[in-house]
Amino acid sequence: MTERNGYAPGEIEPKWQDRWANENVAFVDTAAAAAEKFYMLMMFPYPSGDRLHVGHGRNYILGDAVYRYFRMRGRPALNPMGWDAFGLPAENAAIKSGIHPREYTKRNIAEMKKQFRSWGILYDWSKELASCEPSYYRWNQWIFLKMWERGLAYRKKAPVNWCPGCRTVLANEQVIDGRCERSGDEVETRDLEQWFFKITAYAERLLEGLDRLEHWPEKVKTMQRNWIGKSTGARIFFEIPDLAETLTVFTTRPDTLYGATFVAPAPEHPLVARIAGRSARTAELEQFVGRVRRESRMEREAESADKEGFDTGVFSINPATREKIPVWLANFVLPDYGEGAIMSVPAHDQRDFEFARKFHLPIRPVYLPDSGPLDPATMAAAWVQDGVVIDSEDWSQTPASKAIERAVSTIEEKGWGARQTTYRLRDWLISRQRYWGTPIPALYCGACGLVPEREENLPIILPNDIEFRNVDGNPLARSESFVDAPCPRCGAPARRETDTMDTFVDSSWYYLRFVDPRNEERIFDSARVNRWLPVDQYVGGIEHAILHLLYARFFCRVLRDFGLVGFEEPFSRLFNQGMITRLNPATGKIEKMSKSRGNTVSPDDLIAQYGADTERVYTLFMGPPEKECEWSQDGVAGAHRFLARVDELCSRVAGLPVAGEAGDTPLVRAAHRTIRRVTDDIERFHFNVVVAALMEFQRTVTDSLVEEKESGATLHFAVRTLLALLHPIAPHLTEEWWERLGEKSFLLTSPWPQADPTLLIEDSIEIRIQVRGKLRDKMMVDRRMDDREIEKLAQEREAVRKWLDGGPARAYFNRPKQILNFVPASPGDP
Ligand SMILES: [Zn+2]
Ligand SMILES: [Zn+2]
Repeated sequence: MTERNGYAPGEIEPKWQDRWANENVAFVDTAAAAAEKFYMLMMFPYPSGDRLHVGHGRNYILGDAVYRYFRMRGRPALNPMGWDAFGLPAENAAIKSGIHPREYTKRNIAEMKKQFRSWGILYDWSKELASCEPSYYRWNQWIFLKMWERGLAYRKKAPVNWCPGCRTVLANEQVIDGRCERSGDEVETRDLEQWFFKITAYAERLLEGLDRLEHWPEKVKTMQRNWIGKSTGARIFFEIPDLAETLTVFTTRPDTLYGATFVAPAPEHPLVARIAGRSARTAELEQFVGRVRRESRMEREAESADKEGFDTGVFSINPATREKIPVWLANFVLPDYGEGAIMSVPAHDQRDFEFARKFHLPIRPVYLPDSGPLDPATMAAAWVQDGVVIDSEDWSQTPASKAIERAVSTIEEKGWGARQTTYRLRDWLISRQRYWGTPIPALYCGACGLVPEREENLPIILPNDIEFRNVDGNPLARSESFVDAPCPRCGAPARRETDTMDTFVDSSWYYLRFVDPRNEERIFDSARVNRWLPVDQYVGGIEHAILHLLYARFFCRVLRDFGLVGFEEPFSRLFNQGMITRLNPATGKIEKMSKSRGNTVSPDDLIAQYGADTERVYTLFMGPPEKECEWSQDGVAGAHRFLARVDELCSRVAGLPVAGEAGDTPLVRAAHRTIRRVTDDIERFHFNVVVAALMEFQRTVTDSLVEEKESGATLHFAVRTLLALLHPIAPHLTEEWWERLGEKSFLLTSPWPQADPTLLIEDSIEIRIQVRGKLRDKMMVDRRMDDREIEKLAQEREAVRKWLDGGPARAYFNRPKQILNFVPASPGDP
């Protein structure tokens, strides 16, 4: 036996990190053909300057393990990394400390790269890109111009979300419960001229595509479906005789038209100014409108929000009943949903019901529930379930399931309105009034107006001569060298757009650029992109469900329509890792691990004490990777002990002679069963089960060694199998022993072990075959075969047929007892 020095990750790990880097093991030539390619991608991080903690590690370690596994399976595997490098924290740091955002970002990137390396994570750094580099963002500008040409980028004045903390506008997707998703500030509504991407033109395609994403978490798909928010209904025209105007409303319940007792345009609706002119209470009405407009969209939409209303005193005509019904203003009616006006049916819509109760408006049921008629005087809530239509002329007695279709046809026939589909999705507001982003390639010319920059002038470079401190508003607007530029159309002095793009533009297509990151002629080579994409496995947090993941699907479709890519869905498989929690000393509660809560664990300390392999094993073992898991220091120590046992086992087996063949022994069979389990479970991302299986296998090998029942050859085989299967999880220790056992190539590039099906005997069962209750034969079958298959096999056996005299037979199979009994069929049997 060789002398054992003990498990020393501090020596092993840097050695292998150097070797992998020096030999460029993760490099993949994306220009070459790539049959069976595997494109693994982590959502590229924002280099924030905060040290990554073990909670972040979960994400990257998981991705690395998956990547290493597919490498060993022999797939050409691409695993690139880059930086979502534009954004506010860098600019805020510049304001605070005077350091230029570019410098600040560069430093942070260098630090993060070191951290990735110390975890043993392999990326193909030849593909590295950072969105703040002109070589990258020029293509944002190029895409923008192409979209503008096709009407997919446009500028308009609109009520928008303004974050006072970030001093910029935000997309709807970035407002969570009325607050900025980044800074948490309460968002205000302001009327501003802004740039938009017309994502609404893709609403239907984005929705349809979700059905084909079989390997995406249901939760993400549901969130996107709800966000797109398709509803089918009708536009209905309500005349306002006093104004000689028609108010068009959108409703998803045209079947309740006879129950509409008032209409409500949004306070922002263009007709409201004219209604105000007719109202006896003009000043109050205008005050009401002003107040509502200061409320955020989220406040107005919230189910629980206070219903604010104002009776305009003006009337409209319900086209079905020809009755006069009042025009009210209500804060919950949004200008950009449907037609920006609704018809209110208090009996059958909860929000309308609450509003009607508050303002004493009539409630008129037009549905009869199975449980009996509704009484407007005593109803406690709107009736929104089934029933049959009543009090609606021709529609009466129609069951709920057919009512909407019937109503829409009548409405169209009689000219009361038209069929209409709407979406909750709004166009994507992309302008930001901040410096650290992609400059929007547009100019304002006194003679020509708004003009796109010429393609050959790209990139429009973000200037460096910027004063960040003591600046009110967008610092870019203060840079004369940037702002002053000739008009691309007439050459006269013009002014550049100083808004920059939302950083979500950067992340909407970066996964395409990774396969051709240095291309200076084109955005990318389409043939290459079509060879390597879609991404086979994408990994990132659920918080991106409706921001990044929706925008990326939108961009992919746009680029497909431009003829640049041959697919619509960028990510075939998506995995959302769960977060890591830990006791927060300040609150005494188990909370998400985060710097602001002060409950993080630094990987630096952990690696210094136990090594990166220990962190990797523990992180993957602590629970199912999609679930929230609590960090435990005891668990870390346990993972470390496991690796020390592996190390000791390897060292003892390394000293044994390797004589003869491994053969068929209990240990060899255990190895094959482990290969099968581990392979299946990695494919399903059940890494915690994988680690458990490897721990069990290590004990089996150690026991065999101690009991001296197995030959040196079988023990060597078992240990090599253990090392190979453990490699994706603990790459350093396993490479080390692979080498010490005499192997010349990296374990990473060695083939993944194959399970020999003939040795997976625990998957076979022995069936005893009886004929008329007497044992006549036995056979081994795969336990996964169904009863019919087993019967058929048995019936074909000579020893069985002999006793059945060749006649028809019926079989009774007792699977738990593994007894199959045949009786000859009597003539009367079916
Ligand atoms: Zn903010
Ligand atoms: Zn001009």
